[in-house]
Amino acid sequence: MTTRAPSPYEDFGLLPIAGTRREGAAGRRLEVTNPFSGETLLEIAMADHADLDEAYQAAANAQRDWAATGPGERAAVMHRAVAIFDARKDEIIDWLVRESGSTLVKAAIEWGSARAITLEAAGMPSRSHGRVLPSDVPNKQSLVYRKPLGVVGVISPWNFPLHLSIRSVAPALALGNAVVLKPASDTPVTGGLLLARIFEEAGLPSGLLSVVVGAGSEIGDAFVEHPVPAFISFTGSTDVGRGIGRIASGGEHLKRVALELGGNSPFVVLADADLEAAVEAAVVGKFLHQGQICMAINRIIVEAPLLEAFTRRFVERVRALPVGDPAKPGTVVGPVINPRQLEGLRAKVARAKEEGAIVLLGGEPGGNVMPPHVFGGVTADMEIAREEIFGPLVGIQAARDAEHALELANGSEYGLSSAVFTGDVARGIAFARRVRAGMTHVNDMPVNDDYNAPFGGEKNSGLGRFNGDWALHEFTTDQWITVQTGPRPYPF
Ligand code: NAD
Repeated sequence: MTTRAPSPYEDFGLLPIAGTRREGAAGRRLEVTNPFSGETLLEIAMADHADLDEAYQAAANAQRDWAATGPGERAAVMHRAVAIFDARKDEIIDWLVRESGSTLVKAAIEWGSARAITLEAAGMPSRSHGRVLPSDVPNKQSLVYRKPLGVVGVISPWNFPLHLSIRSVAPALALGNAVVLKPASDTPVTGGLLLARIFEEAGLPSGLLSVVVGAGSEIGDAFVEHPVPAFISFTGSTDVGRGIGRIASGGEHLKRVALELGGNSPFVVLADADLEAAVEAAVVGKFLHQGQICMAINRIIVEAPLLEAFTRRFVERVRALPVGDPAKPGTVVGPVINPRQLEGLRAKVARAKEEGAIVLLGGEPGGNVMPPHVFGGVTADMEIAREEIFGPLVGIQAARDAEHALELANGSEYGLSSAVFTGDVARGIAFARRVRAGMTHVNDMPVNDDYNAPFGGEKNSGLGRFNGDWALHEFTTDQWITVQTGPRPYPF
């Protein structure tokens, strides 16, 4: 049986706010461009403070009825959204390629992960249950109810826009919350407007999901300070996240906050590792989406006996990667998101050279496409090792032995993901347990996500955990209710 694809969504220039679809009232227009071709994709009239306030008020109203629906009804919306992901697969992938500069491979991965997260969320309503506790008080029923938080404010970045929005939006809605979403200005469609269409088509009641497109510097503080949201789920840079954490926990209206921030993943290759397997993992773990992934490899740390062989093989593999148009099948390294990001990467290359790193592979950018760069002779004090790169550059560091490799791996303010390669799995697990990171993978790349496993970081990589039971706890809260069913002794 063949099913016909539905006609593509149109009119992304309008914002879904408070159950209406309309222009934002800020009086400024956002031009959304294709990062590879520079073509203008659409213009959006941006939202202002009044739009934001309306979105939050409507969310608060709609949430009361939504929270009272049964788990089956909320699960059904998620299941219908999954079916829409299937029916509109090509349309979604096409938007990811054109708006975020995703290669076809990356866009297909992101489509798959967004679908999987929605499917996982469909199981959450029926898994959100409370407990009955024993009580020391005679005739006391001690009950713990698990309930939604109310309204959740979600702020997402541009690199995996669909995935990083939906990993908050789907569980939040499934568990009975309402959501106001602020996508990044580079990716308003794939980070928000497309998602709103999918949930509207899936039958999500009106007002439960609004999307405000506006500059973080203009509506960001108000988005977090507003009295309505009980929880701000932020994914983005550590600098911006710090400010959001301060407002959420130090402002007039206290609220819960999750901060999923920057990373600086170490990729450790011990001397007994399978060289070919380590090289394959390093190439994908570094260059998927041009290295613009929070979990991307930022530092390659190789134990001395394997250093030369690893470096030679890695450079050989990276040199052969197809670079250029992300819409062309086979392209591995496409454009970075915008010219500002490209300038930042150029500055990082210049700084690495100044600090004495050896260019093993380099080249000049063409448009927003930065060719892969590999540096040798990198030391822990160099900027390229200390800072998050977020682009297709990487440095290789030498470790004297496994202890030194561990010391180098832990020598970072970040602690998101990490990886270690070794021929001895027991040794790998022992090593992994001493890495200060939220996630460590033995004999695999650090870019790794399963939608039932805890995703999140330590240190300056943030607070909070996503996926599965961890998301279930993040997007709900406990309420303790007791019932006195008979006489109770009072102390006076
Ligand atoms: P960013 O912090 O510049 O922006 C993220 C979002 O915050 C955008 O929507 C932006 O508009 C908004 N924003 C900016 N200033 C704001 C303010 N003052 N108040 C409220 N919102 C504001 O990050 P980016 O450049 O879009 O994304 C790249 C960063 O995100 C990298 O550091 C990367 O590691 C991190 N990231 C982390 C994860 C994770 O899960 N830990 C995932 C992806 C990306």
